[in-house]
Amino acid sequence: MKFDSPLFDKIRIKPENDRRPKKPGPRCQWSGCKNEAGHRAPKGRGKEKDYWNFCIEHVREYNQNYNFFSGMTDDAVLAYQKDALTGHRPTWKMGTGKRGAGRPDLGGAADPFHMFHELGGRGGPDPDHKPEQRIVRNAERKALETLGLEAGAATLEIKSRFKELVKRHHPDANGGDRSSEDRLVEIIQAYNYLKSLPGFS
Ligand SMILES: [Zn+2]
Repeated sequence: MKFDSPLFDKIRIKPENDRRPKKPGPRCQWSGCKNEAGHRAPKGRGKEKDYWNFCIEHVREYNQNYNFFSGMTDDAVLAYQKDALTGHRPTWKMGTGKRGAGRPDLGGAADPFHMFHELGGRGGPDPDHKPEQRIVRNAERKALETLGLEAGAATLEIKSRFKELVKRHHPDANGGDRSSEDRLVEIIQAYNYLKSLPGFS
């Protein structure tokens, strides 16, 4: 092997790695994210020259939901992201509203003679009916109401109603109207809540 070959000279004069500290780059534009950005994502329909600047994790998440975000106003996209941070908890009050339909309200009274139990097994304190379950059921009913659906609506029905409502309340379809944007966020929250429940597939 010839160590005086011009090739080795070339290798030797290669500059050393730059050890100066890197300047911090722009931050990810995902709501609440502090990672370094560096990945551009198109904002979509009607904004072909506009880009979000995200970190790698969020550019992936954005791209996965691209069809959903495309054409949404920046505010709506950010509202959705902020909402995702809190796990899409419903913002409506839970535990209000009427008692379960079809169940006589005993007002907390005991049922010593099991009268209600004998009336077809309905009514009366239900040992399987825990308070947390009732809160979940109330929240579920409220979410369904937000989508204009009855209790017990099928998954397929929920999905197609959601698509329809997103189209109808999309700010683009309403001249950028803020109130339709608020309604859209409500719809998204309700849908995401329903989606998080076991049995939704
Ligand atoms: Zn990020």
